[in-house]
Amino acid sequence: MLKRIFNPWNLIINNCRIFGRNERKLFQVEIVNNKIEKIRLLRKPLAKKITNNNILDLAGSMLYPGFNDSHTHFMWMGLKLISLNFEGTVSAEDVYSRLKEYIKKVPPGSAIIGEGYDETKWKAEGNILKSELDKISPKNPVVLRRVCGHKGIANTEALKRIPSTWKIVNRDSGELFEDAVLYIRKLFPPTEDELDSGLKEAIKLAKKEGVTSITDVVNKDYFKTYQRYFAKNKNPEIRVSLYFTYENINEVISTGLEAGFGNEYMKVRGIKLFTDGSIGAYTAAINQNFLGKKTNGVLIFQTPKLKELILKADRNNLQLMIHAIGDRAIDQVLSIFKSIDFNRELRHRLEHIELISDRQIIEMKKLDLIASMQPNFVGEWSHPDEMYSQRLPLEYFMRNNNFAKVIKAGLPLALGSDCMPFGPWYGIESAVNHPIIGSEISFRQAVKAYTEGSAFAEHEEKNKGKIKEGYLADLIYKCDS
Ligand SMILES: [Zn+2]
Repeated sequence: MLKRIFNPWNLIINNCRIFGRNERKLFQVEIVNNKIEKIRLLRKPLAKKITNNNILDLAGSMLYPGFNDSHTHFMWMGLKLISLNFEGTVSAEDVYSRLKEYIKKVPPGSAIIGEGYDETKWKAEGNILKSELDKISPKNPVVLRRVCGHKGIANTEALKRIPSTWKIVNRDSGELFEDAVLYIRKLFPPTEDELDSGLKEAIKLAKKEGVTSITDVVNKDYFKTYQRYFAKNKNPEIRVSLYFTYENINEVISTGLEAGFGNEYMKVRGIKLFTDGSIGAYTAAINQNFLGKKTNGVLIFQTPKLKELILKADRNNLQLMIHAIGDRAIDQVLSIFKSIDFNRELRHRLEHIELISDRQIIEMKKLDLIASMQPNFVGEWSHPDEMYSQRLPLEYFMRNNNFAKVIKAGLPLALGSDCMPFGPWYGIESAVNHPIIGSEISFRQAVKAYTEGSAFAEHEEKNKGKIKEGYLADLIYKCDS
């Protein structure tokens, strides 16, 4: 079992081995005021005597720095964890009965958004009926979304609140399609209570996975949730770096927020931008057509507009987190950075870069940019006959997520999960067992990128990511009980 040590006031850890430091030897680590005060090499194991709670004996287990997930949607994940979920339902009746159970806990009038039903997996044919939803929930608006997210069904209370201007809403059957269901949260945003309990659930999962720091992308509501949480909790159990979605850039600038504002638990870092879509949706921008399609993806911004946004963030001391998956999107970003004078100290970062070319890796290095990658994608999509091979021309398939080349080029690499799913172990395992020979990295390199590398990306390399004197005491280890 994995145990996490987060920010203890005083603690002595005896008989541990230390990741990255003469790993055959045993050490004693002394923690004072939440920081690693002293690391002592032990000539022989110390006798196991636990006199009080401030001494921990690891009996030779390895101590690692706490994992630092450099790309999450932590709040979003938390909301998903607490939401009504229909995965695994086998019939419409099954959906109704889960809804009936759930509605008991919900105050009258507040909206219920359920996710994940899939009628193609049901045993018998059937449909969710608006009339049944009305019977179960006469007072609360209810919207149930299909597993794909592009189709849903609403009850009468929900339909009342859906503006008549919204298209693709069938008011008789309650069926919703595309934008009407994709953006339903705009009409029924999560309540403060839901946001607060969502964050708590996400932190619970972080504790279980050995994650002590995360980076999240926030809007106003998410940002306020973090502020409420950290104001209330003296030992908050997590450290966060936050990037606002670019829709908020003007407000962030006008309030004077800059990269690094915050405290040891919560820091504002900058702005998150998208430049293309995803491989799964054929919208990542690449330089050839996708397999069997007449499209080479989508660039979200015209170059002048993107340049303006990049300059705006950079000039206002905000670090950029730029989503760019295909080489065409990456080229668009690199051409902008090559054409402007920018603050390299900010360490602007490119997210995903799943299909980066060799040349682009070298260019990123020259521009002092950071590679923020998610090895989970390899585990999910990179094996033969999985999504990458079905969508991508061979040349592109062969270059997906080449962590080895990024490290070899000396480009700083930060690893994260993108919450797909959340947790470092699946990603580390996927990076180590990359199915394309030559793209894999060692366990040691993967752990380093998930700790030191992520700390560097959030400008915390002097506080986090290593077990070293003066560093924060955010640590993990494995134990039997
Ligand atoms: Zn993401």
